[in-house]
Amino acid sequence: MRILVTGGAGFIGSHYVRQLLGGAYPAFAEVAEVIVLDKLTYAGNEANLAPVAEDPRLKFVRGDICDRELVTGLLRGIDVVLHFAAETHVDRSINGSDAFVTTNVVGTNALLQAAAENGVGKFVHVSTDEVYGSIESGSWPEEHALEPNSPYSAAKAGSDMLARAYYRTHGLPVCITRCSNNYGPYQFPEKVLPLFITNLMDGKPVPLYGDGMNVRDWLHVDDHCRGIQLVAEAGLAGEIYNIGGGTELTNAELTERLLAEFGAGREMIEHVTDRKGHDRRYSVDHNKIVTQLGYEPAVDFTTGLRETVRWYRENRSWWEPLKERAAVAR
Ligand code: NAD
Repeated sequence: MRILVTGGAGFIGSHYVRQLLGGAYPAFAEVAEVIVLDKLTYAGNEANLAPVAEDPRLKFVRGDICDRELVTGLLRGIDVVLHFAAETHVDRSINGSDAFVTTNVVGTNALLQAAAENGVGKFVHVSTDEVYGSIESGSWPEEHALEPNSPYSAAKAGSDMLARAYYRTHGLPVCITRCSNNYGPYQFPEKVLPLFITNLMDGKPVPLYGDGMNVRDWLHVDDHCRGIQLVAEAGLAGEIYNIGGGTELTNAELTERLLAEFGAGREMIEHVTDRKGHDRRYSVDHNKIVTQLGYEPAVDFTTGLRETVRWYRENRSWWEPLKERAAVAR
């Protein structure tokens, strides 16, 4: 079995690769080759793969998913594609959406086309709950209309539509996953949790958007990757699977939990102007993957958060240069 992982030097993709090569997914134990295709944008980091860098099954290719010739060549003889590569930071998409449309839409299109030409056996397109928009009460099932509000989520919704079209038109065995907010080790320190953790480590305030009442569901990256793996193994072609974590918190509550971890007071909160078009609440109904594929989130949020804080405390040399890089790339 040969697997292609796009965006495998990013936060979630690298977790998947470390888990896969570390033997966490027995159904893929026979994997002969794992090709990671990653452009190494400001968010990509080859060091995220350091724990498995010596594994002879791993092949790292620095390249762009928009490069048709490259992806057509790489997809030859590939059995499974796990497509993580994307521009992912909502705030950056508000400041400029070109790279989001290019990578998320044009790049996904290039991959889908090459996958169809090469007869790939399974294409897992990793998407987001943000494509559904914002919901006041209840949770979205997979059939819900796509009503994305940010350029990031609009570009992801575009890629979801293309993935669906490649299944309907060309019979490409595509599965789409839509997950909630991930957290865990190796997350780039511009995203809210690692940003807040690393600020608190340095005695700096944490910037809380608006009234802090925006609600997010938190999903540990390990649970997310297990869900993706279940879809890669047994997901039905053409189907969409929501993956949630089961812990909904307002941003203010999340901040309080972090302050408690650091023994810090509310004076560390800096209230900042709300993000433009800030979605109020995301909530996925992930009953389908639970009943059909046996998924269950396993990481308790309190434990996961504590371990994540510990990881950032123990890995300053990993995040400190990235924080500087994030500031330069902004
Ligand atoms: P990330 O920003 O940490 O990593 C993205 C990776 O993609 C980086 O390694 C980057 O170098 C690579 N990349 C970007 N453009 C590329 C291109 N043109 N060609 C090749 N590689 C390119 O993102 P992440 O948090 O790991 O997210 C992975 C996927 O999961 C994304 O598709 C994202 O939309 C989705 N997702 C993430 C979250 C979350 O909470 N992090 C939630 C829902 C969905």
